[in-house]
Amino acid sequence: MEKTTMAFRYFMPADTYFGRGCIEAHKDVMEKLGKKAMVVTGRSSAKKNGAQKDVTDALDSLGIQWVLFDEIGENPDLETVERAAEIAVKVGVEFFIGIGGGSPMDASKAISVMAANPGKGSDALFDGNSAALPVVAVPTTAGTGSEVTQFSIITLHEKRTKTSIAPKVFASVSYLDPKYMDTLSPKITNNTAVDALTHLIESYLSGSANFISEKIVEMGLSIFRECIPALKAQQYPAEIRDKLMLASAIGGVAIAQTGTSLPHGMGYFLTYEKHLAHGMANGVLTRAYLEQFPEGDEKVAKLLACLGMKDTAEMGAFMDAVLEHTETYTEKDIAYYTERFLETPQKMATFPYPLTKEDVYKMYEKSLLK
Ligand code: NAP
Ligand code: ZN
Repeated sequence: MEKTTMAFRYFMPADTYFGRGCIEAHKDVMEKLGKKAMVVTGRSSAKKNGAQKDVTDALDSLGIQWVLFDEIGENPDLETVERAAEIAVKVGVEFFIGIGGGSPMDASKAISVMAANPGKGSDALFDGNSAALPVVAVPTTAGTGSEVTQFSIITLHEKRTKTSIAPKVFASVSYLDPKYMDTLSPKITNNTAVDALTHLIESYLSGSANFISEKIVEMGLSIFRECIPALKAQQYPAEIRDKLMLASAIGGVAIAQTGTSLPHGMGYFLTYEKHLAHGMANGVLTRAYLEQFPEGDEKVAKLLACLGMKDTAEMGAFMDAVLEHTETYTEKDIAYYTERFLETPQKMATFPYPLTKEDVYKMYEKSLLK
């Protein structure tokens, strides 16, 4: 194609319903997905916040049979996905409903790929050509945006990190009901809100950003800005829950176009090695990431202005205020993370300026050895 100043694709195929009571109001759209579903959840939250019951009531009323797999842990690993897929194949599941944070939603996507390709085993997750069975996503945290992205992040113990599966799996249907977040603790609310914020930031500043993704992010940042006082005060009235869920979904739509960037790629090692929550891992690296851009960078300035922040120090202070980051690190740790991050040149390439090993080390150093 001829090179022009503007050329991009915008693709976001998830049929998305937002609002309190949206599962009951729009359950009919699940009818076309199949006659037998697997409901995929974490161990307890979907039972406590009412999402599991809303889903199974809807399935019962539509005459869709279902089985429950409620063993998804945080940062789901390949072994759990394999176990669920084996059951799904055995009982003839035709579609999957992931309820929870990013972990059950991502796991549902990976399980759907393995169940659609029973002969391939886990290889199905790493070749880009494998088909998937339909997935429905019901987020109960406001952070990952997995309900509107094609990504599924799985932990590979063999590689001591997390990785995106190769097939692109968008949910066929997503139900975003903010009431499920009423049971979320301040800690998980803030960690996941920071995940949503970092999606917006990394998408905006990525070398893959385009006209539409940037406008979407600006809208998301202005909504997120209205949540900042509530996140600091740890007070989350209904309108804030609505806004957080919106900002998260908008962040998802944005990274579905551009992917994430350095804090995500660099943060995976903090999650694997130090068990930092995903959002926190990105958040602690964000100030140093912004400061890696040349001084006076116009896009960084515009992004901070959208959030009502005057400089990168204010971003750092915001992260300090909303995240409880108490982990300690050594120089040996960050040398190891630096080496590991260099193994993902595709993530490094999202940074729109040249980036050296020393730059990566310094970002870790500034963020973790302060
Ligand atoms: P999560 O790992 O899904 O859940 C964290 C914790 O929150 C779990 O203990 C869970 O309990 C609990 N929880 C969930 N909803 C709750 C509610 N409404 N009330 C009370 N507790 C609740 O956390 P997450 O941050 O949402 O997801 C992180 C994962 O998503 C990571 O693996 C990350 O890599 C991935 N991710 C994916 C994308 C994407 O585009 N696909 C983007 C960013 C991140 P239960 O275990 O009992 O449910
Ligand atoms: Zn994320």
